[in-house]
Amino acid sequence: MKWSYTIGRVAGTDIKVHLTFLVLVGWWAWMGYQEGGSASALLAALSLLALFGCVLLHEFGHILMARRFGVRTPDVILLPIGGVARLERIPDEPRKELLIAIAGPAVTLAIALGLYLILTVIEGGPPRLGALSPDDPFLAFLMKVNVFLLLFNLIPAFPMDGGRVLRAILASRLGMVRGTRAAATLGQILAVIGGLYGLTMGAPLLVLVAFFVFIGASSEATAVETRAAGEGLRVSHMMVTEFRTIPVHATLSQAVELLLSGEQREFPAVDNLGRTEGILTRDNLIRGLNQRGPSSTVGEAMTTGAPAIAPTLGFQEALDRLRSSGLPALPVVDAGGGLVGLLTMDNITDLLLVRRAGH
Ligand SMILES: [Zn+2]
Repeated sequence: MKWSYTIGRVAGTDIKVHLTFLVLVGWWAWMGYQEGGSASALLAALSLLALFGCVLLHEFGHILMARRFGVRTPDVILLPIGGVARLERIPDEPRKELLIAIAGPAVTLAIALGLYLILTVIEGGPPRLGALSPDDPFLAFLMKVNVFLLLFNLIPAFPMDGGRVLRAILASRLGMVRGTRAAATLGQILAVIGGLYGLTMGAPLLVLVAFFVFIGASSEATAVETRAAGEGLRVSHMMVTEFRTIPVHATLSQAVELLLSGEQREFPAVDNLGRTEGILTRDNLIRGLNQRGPSSTVGEAMTTGAPAIAPTLGFQEALDRLRSSGLPALPVVDAGGGLVGLLTMDNITDLLLVRRAGH
């Protein structure tokens, strides 16, 4: 995600903070400052950092439960809506997803109960539960926030936890694709209602949360649909097999001619023996022309180190590799080292459209 920074790594999971989370810390400190000067501002900021710790524990509830089912979590991002643990994949069994979704709120509930017990002991009686305020004693503040987090996360607005529980229940009846689409639609409706409420009540944070939920719902539903549409596909089914290569020693003016002669935008660059040395993208070509001129070579302008893909690789892995390469196309190379195809995002998109249309 853009505007997020890695601040550490625990149990194989990168911990990232989104800029908007830091904005929230600043805003909360400012609220404290207005109520009681710099000492209050500091206390408010520290309280929020403690909350940050509670949110992380919540996320590690999800992460450790996912790990029990063999699902890794490359990173967890802290946002104003809480945290988002980016699971490597969603388990196929809805029961497992349900357990993963509920593990986070279970941790938050345990923290809230623990704080409630501590406060009861300290105060010699059950603590009073009022509205959240930066003036609250530290532990009371932390307990209230955890209760709030718990209730908020259980709102059935996919992709929040409550929405994931709902999706798991729907998916067990309707199947993954339809279940996700239904949960995402409800999530978006709730996000619009929440966003409008936030706008009319002057609650900017709620508007921000609604925005993240709205975007998250649609992107997750699309990802599930894409995965389902690509089920069973291998690179050999998806690759472009009619394509042209360009010699690494060719000049950029020759490359321009090749580019303009057809629809192809990316060209595997090959040496005299036909081995792939790199890939020349349209961006490479334009940059090369600007920086070195038309008589410089393809070898100087091309992208090297593009990962070659095997024709037997499965759909999702191929898609992930293409995306993470940041390139519009990757060469497909068979076991003998021969260049057999070109995997492009355009071709995959076309293929999925055709498959979704039922062919
Ligand atoms: Zn959660």
